[in-house]
Amino acid sequence: MSGLDLLGPDQRGLFIGGSWRDAEGGETFAVYDPADGSVLARVASATTNDAMDALDAAAAAQADWARTPPRERGEILRRAFELINARADDLAELMSLEMGKTVAEAKGEVTYANEFFRWFSEEAVRIHGRWMQNPAGNSRLLTIKKPVGPCFFVTPWNFPLAMGTRKIGPAVAAGCTMVVKPAELTPLSMLALASILAEAGLPDGVLNVVPTHHSADMSKALMADDRLRKVSFTGSTEVGRVLVRQSADQLQRISMELGGNAPFLVFEDADIDAAVDGAMIAKMRNMGEACTAANRFLVHADVAEEFAEKLATRMGKLVVGRGQDAGVDVGPLIEEKAVESVHQLVTDAVHDGARVLTGGGSPDGPGFFYNPTVLLDVDPESEINSQEIFGPVAPIVTFTTEEEAVTRANATEYGLASYAYTRDLARTIRLAEALDYGMVGINTGLISNAAAPFGGVKASGFGREGGFEGIEEYLETTYVALPAG
Ligand code: NAD
Repeated sequence: MSGLDLLGPDQRGLFIGGSWRDAEGGETFAVYDPADGSVLARVASATTNDAMDALDAAAAAQADWARTPPRERGEILRRAFELINARADDLAELMSLEMGKTVAEAKGEVTYANEFFRWFSEEAVRIHGRWMQNPAGNSRLLTIKKPVGPCFFVTPWNFPLAMGTRKIGPAVAAGCTMVVKPAELTPLSMLALASILAEAGLPDGVLNVVPTHHSADMSKALMADDRLRKVSFTGSTEVGRVLVRQSADQLQRISMELGGNAPFLVFEDADIDAAVDGAMIAKMRNMGEACTAANRFLVHADVAEEFAEKLATRMGKLVVGRGQDAGVDVGPLIEEKAVESVHQLVTDAVHDGARVLTGGGSPDGPGFFYNPTVLLDVDPESEINSQEIFGPVAPIVTFTTEEEAVTRANATEYGLASYAYTRDLARTIRLAEALDYGMVGINTGLISNAAAPFGGVKASGFGREGGFEGIEEYLETTYVALPAG
């Protein structure tokens, strides 16, 4: 078995109440291969009635699921973890086909995604409240934790599996049921995951997966229903704002993992080779199509030429091509308009005076490719510094003081990931406190970890996924007042 064979013809349908079925009216939509634009598969497109059926199934399963012993919930996740490990190569190939990233990178995502199942399989048995005296000593306070209830998850195309497991893992562990809407560009990995969770013994109705190309209608209908108690969204800030507004009527609990505009600071005392290694990861992971991608390189003027030249040499050697071909380092971007928007940002930056050290355009031929690009002498006011690039482009701006670097780094509406390279411990502490971000990577270009609380501030959203904090998003607290006895 390999890649697309993971999904039988049925499993390209909707997964509702433990069964696979067609969408109402038989509507489907195409999933494309970004390496050449051809159709990879057709998938059922859920209508709002289908989505309501999925919510019915989730609501019907909620009470029994909440009563299921934590150990059993954890063991289901653990079995899914083992199954994913056993099928990691096929899952990676499937993901590479629908999303474009290289098979090696996709394998990395499968491992990362699966770590959330392992982590939350262990967290399921550590849900607890507390017992304390009130300050006057004449009563007792007990807090108990309960699952928040049926959830709605909306995930993006850039990490088709991991953005799902970061939500499904803690929800399963906490005893919540769920309706999942994967991105229409990459629904196949999520359908394969649904199949694996069913095989791992997840009871019918706990997880329902409803791909659709009517996302806005679906979210409106589901969020208008008072049985839905929680919405967790990963995607753009623009859509996040729509969902936050929609959550007001039923006052659903919400978690928002939104866009980023990560600064990558390189100080004059940094180990420049290590900073280039970190930059390669922070910039080039996922072809730059990551919310944590280094978006603005802020480099001290004394080391900017050296850093830029070394980075351009490394970026210039990367092999661009189809993600499933041997020897390829950089796959295609997700769609044609992504290539156009990346190129527009580069063109504007060059118009504003930036120098292209490598890249700057697309290779000839079909597919949605963009060459790894390094731009030096970028005007801090250029559009490329205020927007998420979502492509393999590293714009470099210089600074001369730490204060200037921090001010520039914070001069964005976003606040997800940030990175800094320095060998000065006191500066490290100052930066960790001064950078207005949910995550700060010091001397590392890779911050994502299932054991850490992932999330942002400001327009990057709120709520945390992973770590001890991750499960709290799926738990309610009930306080019980008791007399002293
Ligand atoms: P997007 O907002 O366009 O789409 C995300 C999801 O929302 C998709 O499933 C889409 O179908 C759905 N959607 C669109 N409109 C909707 C609506 N009205 N109601 C319900 N669902 C709707 O984002 P994208 O282009 O898929 O993903 C890229 C964005 O995601 C970037 O901004 C990136 O930074 C962000 N992202 C954030 C994180 C994080 O953890 N903070 C992680 C990955 C990606």
